[in-house]
This record gives sequence, C-alpha cells and structure tokens, in this order.
Amino acid sequence: MFVHAAQRLGYFTAVLEPDAQSPAGLVSHHHIQTGYDDPAGLAQLAHLCQAITTEFENVPAQALQTLAQTRPVAPGAAVVGIAQNRIEEKAHFAACAAVSGVTCAPYAVIETPAQLQAVQDNRADLLPGILKTARMGYDGKGQVRVKTAEELAAAWAELGSAACVLEKMLPLTAECSVLVARGWDGQVVSFAPQRNVHVDGILAVTHAYKGNLPPALATSARDAAVSIAQHLSYVGVLCVEFFVVKDGSAHGSLVVNEMAPRPHNSGHYTLDACDASQFDLQVHAMAGLPLPQPRQHSPAIMLNLLGEVWFDANGQPQEPDWHSVLSLPGTHLHLYGKVQARAGRKMGHLTITGPDVASVKAVARRAAGLLH
Ligand code: ADP
Ligand code: MG
Repeated sequence: MFVHAAQRLGYFTAVLEPDAQSPAGLVSHHHIQTGYDDPAGLAQLAHLCQAITTEFENVPAQALQTLAQTRPVAPGAAVVGIAQNRIEEKAHFAACAAVSGVTCAPYAVIETPAQLQAVQDNRADLLPGILKTARMGYDGKGQVRVKTAEELAAAWAELGSAACVLEKMLPLTAECSVLVARGWDGQVVSFAPQRNVHVDGILAVTHAYKGNLPPALATSARDAAVSIAQHLSYVGVLCVEFFVVKDGSAHGSLVVNEMAPRPHNSGHYTLDACDASQFDLQVHAMAGLPLPQPRQHSPAIMLNLLGEVWFDANGQPQEPDWHSVLSLPGTHLHLYGKVQARAGRKMGHLTITGPDVASVKAVARRAAGLLH
C-alpha cells in the first residue's frame, strides 16, 4: 500500500525483502530479494533509493543505521530500536508521561531467574497478568496470560526464558490508536483516534467515525500520541495504541499500550475514508513534501480479513463470496496478494464507508455475516 502511494506520485520504488512472493516486492519496480542484514543488498538499496523507510519494525536496527550513513532513513534506527523492545518502549512512555499525561500499564522486567523470583515474591499486584516477550511479538504472539506465581514461572520457561515484561491485566472498556505523521522539519499532523476491537490479540475491527470514543478521551489520546512522536523527534508515520481502562469514572482512563514505527493496520481505513491516507503521509514525510492535515470525508468501519475466511466450517478451502460482499453499498475490498491463506494471517481488509454512521454499521454487520 505504501508502494502504491509512492508510485501514484510518480516515484520508482525498491523493496528489500527475502520472500520471493512478498506483496510489496511483487508490485515494486525493484525487488532486492535478500536478507535484511545482507551488506550487498543494503548497498544496492541505498544506491537505488533517495529515501528509505521500513514497513516492518523487526528489521535489524543495525541495517537502518548502515543505510542512514548514505541516505535519509525514516523512522531512524534509534526509534525503531525502541519500538522493537517492549522494555525500552515502556521506559520511553514513562519518560514521556509528564508531558503526554498518559502512563503505561503497571509492569516489571523479567530477564533473569533472579528477577523472576523477585517478581514472584514481591509483585502480586501484577497478577493476573500477561507475560510478553520484549522482542518480536506481534498479533498476540509471544504472550502468555498468567494468574499465579507458578504459572508465571512456567510461562517464562515456555517463552524460552527470553527477556520479557510482565504486565498487569487491566479491565479494558475499549482500545484505540492514533496515527501521527511528523516531517523532517518537525511539522506534525494526525488522524482522529480510531477505536479498535481485537480478538485473540489480533485486530479484528476498526471503528473510525465521530462518536467512536468519548470526546475527552479522543482528545487526550491524540495529544499524547503527538507528544510521544515529538519526544522521539520521530520522522514518518507513527501509530500509538492505547487502552481505555475501567476506573470508576464515566468514560474510563487512558493507558498507552505500544507503538508501531510505521503505517498501521488500524489506519488502513484512511485509504478509502480520508483525502490523504496514512501511506500518502508516509510518502510525503519521506520525500520532504508538506504534510497535508488529512480530512476524513466518510465514517468508516474496517474489517480485517484473516486466513480463516478462506476456509469453510469443515476446514476445506473456499473462495469467499466476494460477489455478495461487493454488492453491499460502500464496500472497498483490499487483498494483499499473499499467496497462501493461513489461520490468523492478515490477507486483506474490507473498509465500509457511507453517508452516516448508522448505514455504515448496518453494512458492516451484513458484510461480517457473509464473511464468517
Ligand atoms: P501485540 O504486539 O501482539 O499487538 P499487545 O501488547 O498490543 O501485543 O497485545 C495484544 C492485545 O492483547 C491488546 O490489543 C489487548 O487486547 C490485549 N492486551 C495486551 N496487554 C493487555 C493488558 N495489560 N491488559 C488487558 N489486555 C491486554
Ligand atoms: Mg498491539
């Protein structure tokens, strides 16, 4: 989707990605099919490109650093390094809290058996909790929910005794995210917060319309995301995810969860519902073009299309009924060209736009019924 946005402005694109069937590689002018840390591949990428970004936060930060010796790279290696590691990410959120006004969930770092023991002995307040690997987690992977000190020890072993954080399980009333874009010159624009529904740790639905969140929470989330981006001197598109936590007040309170140093799944609706998408903003930021303040012209709901949709109730492969889905008004189908459908794999998404929130919700219900 980034490549498409860049090409719409006449740019040529190059993608470095080892997978021969990588969706971005298949639609790009150049596909450098090699590992993220291959020096020759990185040199070729730097030779071909006037600006470089990443669509995947788990590329080695070192590769971005190498590229940055000769080309502008945004976001930079240091920021991506922070977002790659939950321990550093949470430390950053804590450092921002005074300005952003938002803290993260209570947590403890577990990197050694002694730290595990100390948490078992002294941090009953974090249970029940979620043990998360510090690195490489996504879509709920690398996470184990634990209720007791014994379960915690077993979960840490299950996760290979890797560096982890134990996070207190919070009573969520909602989740939301904010997309911010910041240019080389410090100009910042942002989208209104979207409300996200996750199932089994994977984003399922994004609600993007006025009234999706209590207005005061939406304002706080947007302000906090902007201050987090500014505090990092971030360049490019950043997504900050928040929890809304039940706290006895009418609307609950905001807790920052994590950030993604790239366009984000919860911002895919911007392709169809806004006059500039998150991918357009990423292109503008990288190219040093002015960042337009995006305007959302339609209420929207986004439904993620996971691999399950390509299998029937008996586990037999089936082609989803696109004809019926696309006969519903305001449906915009995006399929990523991934060759193989697998359970939990993000294959595409469906955005529903319409003249008002009620009709968008009605179509979304019918589309969801056809897809499950
Ligand atoms: P990932 O990197 O896989 O997206 P997250 O930390 O965002 O990992 O967790 C995935 C989902 O699990 C969240 O969107 C939320 O629904 C749930 N979750 C994670 N941490 C907590 C928590 N501390 N309390 C309650 N729910 C949580
Ligand atoms: Mg998440």
